[in-house]
Amino acid sequence: MKAKKNTRQRSEQMQQVSAGLQDVLGMTQWRKEHPHATWAEIEAAVDERINQLRAQMIQDLVQMGETEDWSEIPEAERPRCATCGKPLSARGEQTRWIQTNGGEAVKLTRTYGTCPECGVGFVPPG
Ligand SMILES: [Zn+2]
Repeated sequence: MKAKKNTRQRSEQMQQVSAGLQDVLGMTQWRKEHPHATWAEIEAAVDERINQLRAQMIQDLVQMGETEDWSEIPEAERPRCATCGKPLSARGEQTRWIQTNGGEAVKLTRTYGTCPECGVGFVPPG
């Protein structure tokens, strides 16, 4: 008879990540400085750091799909003008902040383009 898999059991990988993050995020040190911390205090401290971490991770992953320099993208794959269909020329960057579930803001930088034909400016959607 097989033992029923305990779904509450965290994977070994997650345990390793947690152990590593405790040091990286300063939680090991924090715990030493707060030996009498309550459950709620520990949870709040972890939340604060994890929320910052998740915001940073989302930001990194989103930006991973972005190519900063459009001149390195083949013309056919560049964002196109909605009016005439010409590939846009990069004209700098636009930055906006997006609020995440954890209460942290994520910075998104997108390349801003203009159409060489009609001169209309665009920020690619998404
Ligand atoms: Zn155009």
